[in-house]
Amino acid sequence: MPETIRVPWLHDQHSHTSFYAALIGCPSLAGLTHGEAFAVVQALSEERLSVVFGWHSARIPFTPEELRKLPPAIIVNISMHGFALSGEAPNLLAGSQPELVAHWADPEWCERNLPNLLEVFSRTAQLTPGKLDSFMERMEAQGLGVVDDMLLPGEEAFQVLRNSRWADHIRCWATPKTFLTLSPLTREALAGLKFFTDGALGSRTAGLKGEFLGGQQGLLLYQDKELLRVLGEAHEYGKPVAIHAIGDGAIEQVLGVLESLHRDGVSFPLVRLEHVQFIDRIQARRAKALGLVLSMQPNFNSDSQDYADRLAPRWLESNNPFRMLIDQAGFKPGRDLIFGSDGMPHGIEYALQWSLFPLYSGQRLTLEELVAGYGVHLEGEGCSVLEIDPEARRVKLLESLAGN
Ligand SMILES: [Zn+2]
Repeated sequence: MPETIRVPWLHDQHSHTSFYAALIGCPSLAGLTHGEAFAVVQALSEERLSVVFGWHSARIPFTPEELRKLPPAIIVNISMHGFALSGEAPNLLAGSQPELVAHWADPEWCERNLPNLLEVFSRTAQLTPGKLDSFMERMEAQGLGVVDDMLLPGEEAFQVLRNSRWADHIRCWATPKTFLTLSPLTREALAGLKFFTDGALGSRTAGLKGEFLGGQQGLLLYQDKELLRVLGEAHEYGKPVAIHAIGDGAIEQVLGVLESLHRDGVSFPLVRLEHVQFIDRIQARRAKALGLVLSMQPNFNSDSQDYADRLAPRWLESNNPFRMLIDQAGFKPGRDLIFGSDGMPHGIEYALQWSLFPLYSGQRLTLEELVAGYGVHLEGEGCSVLEIDPEARRVKLLESLAGN
């Protein structure tokens, strides 16, 4: 029998608020033919740099000749990995992003600089108060009250967030490089510093201790020594740190570096490990001993289905080992195991679907665990009404209401 439940609006502890909001209103090429896509870009302003998303670069490639004829735009791949520059875009970006203009056609460079690229897309697309309002209203409609921004692109976006009615509904993190461009007050207000140590599964660049099917090796963005230095330097800011590490190889590296810093008496107010999808039991115990917080995305349970084409069965099975973390390593949702969506997709429905009805039993979370891991910003602010059908293994968001 389907059951109807009410869940208070949750706190998405890992999303990309200013980025996703800035995208609102940018043209998308998703699903278009080559001719249609060309026409969309051609209709853009010749005067200013635009951002276009949803480009299937493999399906509808643009020739260098076509790109030259178009108005200035950053044309971003549907996967967010890879992009093209059209028209005068290289000249318009040359002053502020000379490296990007020199290397944009090099996929390896793009992978290594993805956070910086996302920041550039985000700044160019530009967050406005109107975009922020519509984004946050969409989030509320999907059962989220607070949505943390893990990649603040700069001071301008921060001012839009801070001067909005959502100011206390969005906590911001920034890369060390961007952190240094922020005003002292903004630095003070920031939740912490964000680091990346490997790539992603979609682009076969997560730092696994092994190969992807087809033989590709994942990517570690730092040598051990470099990571030690970078984190050691960050220590001086006295901020919490959040470290992106998806593959077990990347997790291994981060743990080793944190243990070494710990032995040297270097500590942070808080250390979060982001994603840690392939953390194993021994690594979990080491993370626990260091007092780390694991920031994970129940959404990504579905990677075990979506990436069966690139991950060997042992990876599919060991993805998001929530039962091991909670039942064996002693992590507690809401205390040192926290949840977010990464916006893939946003909202409670998909997260709850994959928590209650995952492909592998080791990925399962109870409703109570999921809610505790996300956390509730303010009781009474809003709630979602969901239908859970255990027989059909289906979760459906019926409505999302302000108030109780
Ligand atoms: Zn993220």
